[in-house]
Amino acid sequence: MAIIVKINKFPIEFEEALPILRKIEAAGFEAYFVGGSVRDTILGREIHDVDIATSAYPEEVKQIFDRTVDTGIQHGTVMVLDHGNGYEVTTFRTESTYQDYRRPDEVTFVRSLEEDLKRRDFTINALALSENGEITDLFSGLDDMKNHLIRAVGVPDERFNEDALRMMRAIRFSSQLDFDIEPETEGAIDRHAHLLEKIAIERIHEEFVKMMMGVRPNLGLNKMIEMGLAKHVPDFKDQETALKQLSQLPLTGLDEIQIWALFAFGFKYDQARINKFMRNWKSSNQLTEEVSKTALLLNEVAEGQAGNLELYKAGETAVVAADHLAQILSLPIEPDKLASKYKQLQIKTKRDLAISAKDLITNKVLTPGPQLGQVLNNLEQSVVENKLNNNYVELLTAAKSIKGEGSN
Ligand code: ATP
Ligand code: MG
Repeated sequence: MAIIVKINKFPIEFEEALPILRKIEAAGFEAYFVGGSVRDTILGREIHDVDIATSAYPEEVKQIFDRTVDTGIQHGTVMVLDHGNGYEVTTFRTESTYQDYRRPDEVTFVRSLEEDLKRRDFTINALALSENGEITDLFSGLDDMKNHLIRAVGVPDERFNEDALRMMRAIRFSSQLDFDIEPETEGAIDRHAHLLEKIAIERIHEEFVKMMMGVRPNLGLNKMIEMGLAKHVPDFKDQETALKQLSQLPLTGLDEIQIWALFAFGFKYDQARINKFMRNWKSSNQLTEEVSKTALLLNEVAEGQAGNLELYKAGETAVVAADHLAQILSLPIEPDKLASKYKQLQIKTKRDLAISAKDLITNKVLTPGPQLGQVLNNLEQSVVENKLNNNYVELLTAAKSIKGEGSN
């Protein structure tokens, strides 16, 4: 087993997790840090989740520690609770009999680190770091890291055949790390792009957003187009021209709402089509709502019709998102114009109105019923449009006169 490099200083997240590794080893098993956190440590990047791999079987892990949770025991993962932290400890495993080009049908637990590293996607993700700082690098992941390369572990064609999501992951890491995809791996993506259709859209969604939020989203999006992956995901498959145009814009620094709103706007989708777009990509209702408000506000900006009422309906999140996107799209509007106009609105929600339904009833202006709602809506709109001041007396007077008009 080739040990190439030793790490002298662990990041704090690893320091804190060392007792877990040591305890597993004291019980006679092997344990290592693996996956993204090892990669990111070597690259000097911030790490998030600390993944631990071990030769101990899940039942054995549970015997070693007092407090564990079966988070994914069928895949060999046990969460170990320690001083307020939770660590995913996963038994070394191989994955066998892939069908339908996605996730394996079954995982087999093994005692060998080598077998576990072999099933991992890319060489830079197939490193193991031991408690004493030694790195196990069986596929020259460290060299690839130096050369800024994403390279499949083993034979790329086979690996993408096993799990087609890996093609999206290659592009995601390429954008996140600003790495190239090694030519053979890239060729295999070209050949297997169509298999992306077999993958659950939620999984593609996750990798796509990570790609777009990486440091090189343009690189990632261009690769998706060039390698034919864009032809095998919802909506994008029918939007070749728009997609190419969008891929020319400066796309760094977008958040999740802005990403989807940019595409929805670029594809010239209306409200109903935006909802379908977001459903196709299995997005949450909350995301769909903000994306839809942002994209519709952008339409209004493009048509020169983004007035107070449109800003009020969009709300702060969509207003801020639309401001940012308007600049990226070179729409004719000054930076932060929407947000500053939004800030000046007298009210941000109906609750901010200086008069309530109860006030109108107590003052005997109206009785409960549909007209009460209509009058309040009317007042709300007039205040938003600055036709009325948000002032109790003024609104009470206005309510009386609106009612008068209504009953004539
Ligand atoms: P991130 O920093 O975004 O979490 P990561 O590399 O940790 O990146 P995860 O999706 O958390 O990515 O996966 C953890 C590890 O599991 C990977 O580093 C890789 O070794 C392995 N892995 C994940 N998905 C796959 C896959 N589809 N095929 C093979 N190995 C995978
Ligand atoms: Mg991870």
